[in-house]
Amino acid sequence: MSSICEKCKCEININNVKYVSQDEDNYSILCLSCYSGKTPEPPKSTNKIKYFCSRCRYSFSRNPTVKIKCPYCGKEDKVINDDRNVKNIISEVSDPTFDEGNLF
Ligand SMILES: [Zn+2]
Ligand SMILES: [Zn+2]
Repeated sequence: MSSICEKCKCEININNVKYVSQDEDNYSILCLSCYSGKTPEPPKSTNKIKYFCSRCRYSFSRNPTVKIKCPYCGKEDKVINDDRNVKNIISEVSDPTFDEGNLF
């Protein structure tokens, strides 16, 4: 007796049959290769968000996390989400209160 993989319709050696429950009454019969591929890695999030470090004017993109550090200066206090108008950021940077002495 052999089973047929529900996914690729190949015959499955009885030793390689995998039962995958769909819900309480249903299950799928899968071959090993389909079973091992049944939960494909979700595509890596390419949802990177653009950030801008107004400390060193370095823009970069990162996957959104709680704390974004500027890869350039390693600080997080001046890193802002770069969906703002960049011109505003530049003028902010040029603000005389911007302490260039703290650059490094
Ligand atoms: Zn299969
Ligand atoms: Zn920086």
